[in-house]
Amino acid sequence: MVTTAALAAGVDFPASQVIFESLAMGIDWISVQDFLQMSGRAGRPDYHDRGIVVLMPVPGKSYTNSQSDTEEEVAIKLLQGEMLSIGVEYGESEQLEEILASIAVTSSVQDLRLIHNLMFGSFDLDKQILRLQSYRFVERKGNKITLTRFGKIVAAHFLPVSKAFLIRDAVLEENDPLKIVTNLEFFDAAYFKYSNQIGSSLHVNMPSRVFQGATLDIVFDGESLSQLDAKIRELMLNFASDFLTCVCKDSPYCGCAEQKFSEKIIRLRTEELDPTNIIKKLEDKYGVSAYQGDVFGYLDNAVRNLDAVELIAKVHSKKGVAEEAKKLKKKVQG
Ligand SMILES: [Zn+2]
Repeated sequence: MVTTAALAAGVDFPASQVIFESLAMGIDWISVQDFLQMSGRAGRPDYHDRGIVVLMPVPGKSYTNSQSDTEEEVAIKLLQGEMLSIGVEYGESEQLEEILASIAVTSSVQDLRLIHNLMFGSFDLDKQILRLQSYRFVERKGNKITLTRFGKIVAAHFLPVSKAFLIRDAVLEENDPLKIVTNLEFFDAAYFKYSNQIGSSLHVNMPSRVFQGATLDIVFDGESLSQLDAKIRELMLNFASDFLTCVCKDSPYCGCAEQKFSEKIIRLRTEELDPTNIIKKLEDKYGVSAYQGDVFGYLDNAVRNLDAVELIAKVHSKKGVAEEAKKLKKKVQG
């Protein structure tokens, strides 16, 4: 098996031997980390007693003029090199999620400190506990700390703090659960099925991803539509009239199109279509395609988020919203 450097680092094949045909990735020498990671693919416990690594440096070779080392010198350095220590830094949101997850298994502040000290990365535990208290995710009495009902839902659904608040605020405003979950996460892995034809009609290099870069501008700006052939034009007009109707200043980059498109996917699912048939509908009506796995993943997440909406609505005594979320969740689950 021959792999690129990137593949070599990530795939679990039972290889007994790794051969480095070159010690460069692109025009850069690989690092000690890269080297150890790739050479570590040689030999797997339970399959092999030992792994063999072969380096094939070309004496005197370098890839750019700025490289002072030659490949055989790099080989020696890699073989003698030591791993750099890697520091792990959590973002604030991850810190809070981490602590919430720990509080889900222990209510003792001492235990919490113990767990915290065993983790990679360092952050101020006490400061973040105070923050969780102020967010009303946890309650503290002396050395005992527990999740509130809201905090329990957030921890159980792996919700980042920002999403938890988005859901809570939307629930308090009694927004439609379908709107809440499509605002929370967009389905953006959509592709124009006829991007090649559109590109050659318009004489542009047309990206196929619908919601990326300037694709929407290219298709729907000025003269473009009139230059498309009739069948594709009809598909594009269907798309525009269903998803590009908002009057936001930043349209089509305001997020409305993604949100409406995401709503469409969930609505099609509630008509008892499976991902394959959902994609077929989208292709037939809008000339927009997607991968089954992406649609499945999106619906799966929607179910999890709807569950969170239902529970958070219950905590805040918004029975109507909770009921709606539950109904929608059941339909999406099928
Ligand atoms: Zn908009």
